[in-house]
Amino acid sequence: MLPKYSLIIPIYNEEATIAALYDRVCAVIDRFDAPAELILINDGSKDRSLLLMRELHDKDPRVCYLSLARNFGHQIAVTAGLNYVRGRVVIVLDADLQDPPELIPALIEQWKQGYQVVYAQRTERRREGWFKRFTAYVFYRLLKQLADVDIPTDTGDFCLMDRQVVDLLNAMPERNRYIRGLRSWIGFRQTAVKFERDPRFAGDVKYTFHQSLALAISGLVSFSKVPLRISTYVGLFSAFVAVVMMILVFYWRIAYPASPLTGLTTIVVAIFFLGAVQLLSIGILGEYIGRIYEEVKNRPLYTLSEVAGFEHQAK
Ligand code: UDP
Ligand code: MG
Repeated sequence: MLPKYSLIIPIYNEEATIAALYDRVCAVIDRFDAPAELILINDGSKDRSLLLMRELHDKDPRVCYLSLARNFGHQIAVTAGLNYVRGRVVIVLDADLQDPPELIPALIEQWKQGYQVVYAQRTERRREGWFKRFTAYVFYRLLKQLADVDIPTDTGDFCLMDRQVVDLLNAMPERNRYIRGLRSWIGFRQTAVKFERDPRFAGDVKYTFHQSLALAISGLVSFSKVPLRISTYVGLFSAFVAVVMMILVFYWRIAYPASPLTGLTTIVVAIFFLGAVQLLSIGILGEYIGRIYEEVKNRPLYTLSEVAGFEHQAK
């Protein structure tokens, strides 16, 4: 029998949480009104995660897993899972139990009310460190200002999606997969369920600062063309400043011929300013061109080294 609910859980070096995760998820799905499947995606873990996933699969046929051939990153791991789901209702959650599985029935309740996307919105980040909280706060507000689509603030990938939405997501060819952005872009009826984000169950944060920054830039660049315009604006502004300076310097030269102010200082400052503006603009251009390059290469999004649990179903 085909499952009605599919849970997607990306896993990267989570050996310390998998057992607890399985228990808590089972407590929830055992009470569902229809069968569920659990899709675990091993994102190139270097610890015993894959081993534990195999064990779970052996003892519980509801557990299927995919193993990516190396670490491809969270967004791609989720994408791989989305490619394999069979249920009508798809739920994405983190493995570290920061996204409480106990919230899933509330998400499903909204789906039954007729919403195709139900995203969990965090109201509080308990014990996540001021730096992470602050940068996340700034980023989500900035994204809201700049993005062409309305991406709700403080939502992660923890959400429920209807099959219809997942099929559309899967049909999107792009490689820069900022899933929470694409999810908003798709449209349909969407709603939020609020929750308090728990601290990580065990282990360290798997997203490095660099990865978080890359995800943030990816979100901005994939959903906004405003940064491209920044160089135009700054260029216009410096042209204006240049004209004003020209007039001032001309006046200064005539009024105070002996003043050193109009000499070296002005030139050095102007050179640095323009240099900075140009490098910044080239950097922004590079972000977009790099992405175009990634897209045209058209490589597969990920490579799989192992797939288990989907045998009965021709893909
Ligand atoms: N993760 C992954 N690949 C990575 C990094 C993380 O699949 O390269 C998974 C990780 O196992 C967890 C989820 O993505 O299930 C979120 O990671 P983490 O808790 O480190 O990030 P945060 O809570 O800061 O979003
Ligand atoms: Mg986490």
